[in-house]
Amino acid sequence: MAQYELRCRECGRSWGNQPRSICDECFSPLEITYDYDSILASIAQGTFSRERVAQRPPNMWRYSELLPLPAGFEPRLPVGFTPLFQAPRLAARLAGNGDAKTAADHLYLKNDAVCLPTLSFKDRVVAVALAQAQAFGFDTVACSSTGNLANAVAAHAARLGLKAWIFIPSDLEPAKILGTQVFGANVVRIAGNYDQVNRLCSQIAEERRWGFVNVNLRPYYAEGSKTVGFEIAEQLGWRLPDNVVVPMAGGSLITKIKKAFDELGKLGLVEEKPVKFFGAQATGCSPISTAVKTGSAEIEPQKPATIARSLAIGNPADGHYAIRTIKHSGGWSEDVSDPEVIDSIRLLAETEGIFTETAGGVTVGTAGKLYRQDRILPEETTVLCITGNGLKTTDVLAGVYEIERPIAPKLAEFEKYLHETLDTVEVAQEATVGA
Ligand SMILES: *Cc1c(COP(=O)(O)O)cnc(C)c1O
Ligand SMILES: [Zn+2]
Repeated sequence: MAQYELRCRECGRSWGNQPRSICDECFSPLEITYDYDSILASIAQGTFSRERVAQRPPNMWRYSELLPLPAGFEPRLPVGFTPLFQAPRLAARLAGNGDAKTAADHLYLKNDAVCLPTLSFKDRVVAVALAQAQAFGFDTVACSSTGNLANAVAAHAARLGLKAWIFIPSDLEPAKILGTQVFGANVVRIAGNYDQVNRLCSQIAEERRWGFVNVNLRPYYAEGSKTVGFEIAEQLGWRLPDNVVVPMAGGSLITKIKKAFDELGKLGLVEEKPVKFFGAQATGCSPISTAVKTGSAEIEPQKPATIARSLAIGNPADGHYAIRTIKHSGGWSEDVSDPEVIDSIRLLAETEGIFTETAGGVTVGTAGKLYRQDRILPEETTVLCITGNGLKTTDVLAGVYEIERPIAPKLAEFEKYLHETLDTVEVAQEATVGA
């Protein structure tokens, strides 16, 4: 076989490499399969190894052997390789006082709120999809999006000199709409929810020779998510964690982190071990977590009603596989209400100095539930995937903080202000001691 090719996930039929996401024989989704023997040969020859990877530039292209990239592909954007770090203060709050110390040593954040260039993990999937779009000869790329994909497709298309058509539900956050328009993309707002936008895009993809990153290029797009898993393993010192908590929209990311861990294990780059996968959703759009909690193997589509718009997919394309990944791993899925999302955004910011968007609030809130349910134990190495940046969803915090009245630039004014404002005796005392 070629280095990689499309295979049907159910009947196994091979489809070569082409812009296509569904098997015509059995209507199941296609997925990229690699020639693992040839990758093992590179490992045997020493051209691909932990040490080789560590010497490469710090971006997602360091794992190119395990990505579906066209021959001779030269990356134009340094995407990914976001920080992974411990979160002791958050751990103390999530795990409760008794276990705070243990949890503090074992909780990590994977921070894709700072993924470049558009501050969400969607930059990873778009980077791979557009590499293939160019190889397939598309001069126009497109997507249906819950926001972050829109930003990423628009930015990467600008960089590569491709035309971009972006289809979004009309209720997206203003910052995500502006953060798409600024790159010169054509933005089409649809009076409907994401699932309706996506159906429309499938119809347009039949009519026009456009590369829709999450429709006809979807199998290539999805592989980009594996780089989150590769990085987590490498940044833990080529070790797999015990648990990962992953926000779910279409359900692709969670299945691809699993694929990444499995590939590293199969190739001998990490020691194989069981990892539990935990899915996170907003209660107002929780088709996957509902299926997991009710023991169903299939998705019951929902009408989204949540502030976590980046996760608001009522009929998730990879829902079935996400359920399977979670169940087979011994993990679980939970969901949190909109007020819990806001509290969790604030908790993460106040404990660890990271401002995440609503999806990150969903992840942190869900992780708290999982600790309280003893599904995640404090002594287990646990990674929370923070997938997007809070500056894109500031509208959800409107009204949470008061805008202070300005005071005159005079010391006496400030002293007066302090006395009027601070009602706790300790803080007022502290202020006078310092004076
Ligand atoms: C798209 C998205 C997800 C979920 O991705 P899927 O692969 O569709 O499940 C998670 N977080 C953020 C911020 C996203 O934009
Ligand atoms: Zn098939």
